[in-house]
Amino acid sequence: MAFVTRFAPSPTGPLHLGHAYSAILAHDLARAEGGQFLLRMEDTDLERCRAEYEALILEDLAWLGLTWDGPVLRQSDHLASYNARLEPLAARGLLYPCSCTRSDIRAAASAPQEGVAFNVYPGTCRGRPMATRRPGDALRLDLAAAFAALVDHDLSFQETGAAHAGLHHIAPDRAHQRIGDVVLSRKGEDIVAYFLASAFDDADQGVTHVIRGEDLFDFTPVQVLLLHLLGLSTPVYHHHRLIRDDQGKRLAKRDDARSIAKYRTEGATPGDIRRMVGL
Ligand code: GLU
Repeated sequence: MAFVTRFAPSPTGPLHLGHAYSAILAHDLARAEGGQFLLRMEDTDLERCRAEYEALILEDLAWLGLTWDGPVLRQSDHLASYNARLEPLAARGLLYPCSCTRSDIRAAASAPQEGVAFNVYPGTCRGRPMATRRPGDALRLDLAAAFAALVDHDLSFQETGAAHAGLHHIAPDRAHQRIGDVVLSRKGEDIVAYFLASAFDDADQGVTHVIRGEDLFDFTPVQVLLLHLLGLSTPVYHHHRLIRDDQGKRLAKRDDARSIAKYRTEGATPGDIRRMVGL
């Protein structure tokens, strides 16, 4: 079986050790398997993404000695196509427009649990016809309708990362508790949720193995549901451990102190970076 994986950074800041770990892991596996390693800029957040961060990411990856196959895919070049993917779902009655503000939702819902990727929506706008969508309305997935549409599907995915290794079945009860009617597109017409663009691109680019941080594990069930709804195939997932700081906190973009660029200017070698992340 062909092995195609990718590194999909969001150019909202410099790469840090956690990104380097993810990129090296995916790259080395692809090379060991004789497969492909793709690079994709997840720059749908037009307000936070910057061209200079993208340039820095390319520079850091080249410095690390990583090579990627084919051109870099930039999600901002394809925004219209992501939204087009939602049209058949809307036509099947699986989406509805939502005008709730964050504070409406907070007032109606109980407090989100710690470590849960989505704030479960209380369903205030559920059932609203698409024709009532106003500019500025978000689009939500009607999760119950989605499960009803997928009764004949085997809704499972294979995970190979150590923390959750095995076959995961997506059970409706748990999905209602943890995902709910997620927002698939916000701010009127143009911005599709980033986990959605990512899943569509993985399918379109023929990615067979998604290798990414453990923090994204909770997005996987909703991505798999959407892939099934659109008749697209599901990759194998590998969620790897996170690189943490001395206090045990996951590194974030704001941790410039651990950016690859900083280590580079201080004279570190790519081999040093590999050692620092335990490779
Ligand atoms: N763009 C996401 C990030 O930088 C990664 C998404 C993914 O790998 O699926 O966190």
